[in-house]
Amino acid sequence: MSKLHFDVVGAEGPKQFFARLTTETIAHAYLFTGPPGVGKKTFARRLAQSLLCEAPKDHVIGYDGTCASCKLIGKEETRHPDLLESIGALKIGEADEPMAFHEADATTSRDLVRQLSLQSYSGGFRIFVLGDVDFASPAAANALLKFFEEPPPRVVLLLTTATPSRLLATIRSRLVEVRFPSLRQAEVVEVLREKGYDQKQAQLGAALSQGSVTRALSALSEDEEQLRDQVARWFFGVVKGETPEEVWASRETLDEGLEIVKTLVRDWIALRSESGAAGIALAVDYAPKLKKLPKIDAATATNALTKIGEAQKLARTNVSPALVSELVRMSLSGTAA
Ligand SMILES: [Zn+2]
Repeated sequence: MSKLHFDVVGAEGPKQFFARLTTETIAHAYLFTGPPGVGKKTFARRLAQSLLCEAPKDHVIGYDGTCASCKLIGKEETRHPDLLESIGALKIGEADEPMAFHEADATTSRDLVRQLSLQSYSGGFRIFVLGDVDFASPAAANALLKFFEEPPPRVVLLLTTATPSRLLATIRSRLVEVRFPSLRQAEVVEVLREKGYDQKQAQLGAALSQGSVTRALSALSEDEEQLRDQVARWFFGVVKGETPEEVWASRETLDEGLEIVKTLVRDWIALRSESGAAGIALAVDYAPKLKKLPKIDAATATNALTKIGEAQKLARTNVSPALVSELVRMSLSGTAA
């Protein structure tokens, strides 16, 4: 028997869940839920590959990567006729113009139902991976219920969403829900390394990721770098008691900016706490500057983090971003003076 793989980082719970299933016990439709960027779609594709792989196995997880079927499934795109993928936000609408499944952003419900009824090309499973699924209207979603009423044999639907509450209850109740947790920091590092980032960049991205690869990638993007630099300049000015003229807080940047401030305060504590415990900085690129700050005492640190936490809650309301950043400025002002 050839060696089987399942190349997915993290997702221990879902792995264990599917590892117990066989081709006889697998359900017709699953809903993968969990925060964006934790690998739901990657898992769905690897599960599809497992189901289509010709290597003999007892359970559904695992593929050899070498059979004729596996050769049609790449890391980023698939040419397997029995694996239909829609990656990126998928709106299933009602528009009735005929379109190929792969060509349009908005798949029609009729297309989907028709595709679902087609026979497998290779005589095995036929699998649909529908990423970030969103049904444009109740009528469109109801069209899918036809599928659930009489599901054709050996068809498996893998839906992913970060907002399961937006699905109609009638649809959701037909799906077996599998929850994906946030990734651990080391797991984000692993994924970023696979994507070609060097160890330093991968660690930085992971530190700012909150367990989401999407977030890590955006943190490593250029816009974000600029925001980080801007917020860091502001932070180092504020803690010295200056009132920086530069404003970074806008509706778009507030949430991310507060996260950056929080990371900097935590790193300051880690690197320069009274207890003298040598910590590890998350914002590795600012560690040298943070090390030059005076020691921060526990009470000041706790107070600052509490205030930032409150500001983050306010940031989700209609309070103006300028006011929120001002509150954080006051809590940090002069703490390193
Ligand atoms: Zn294979």
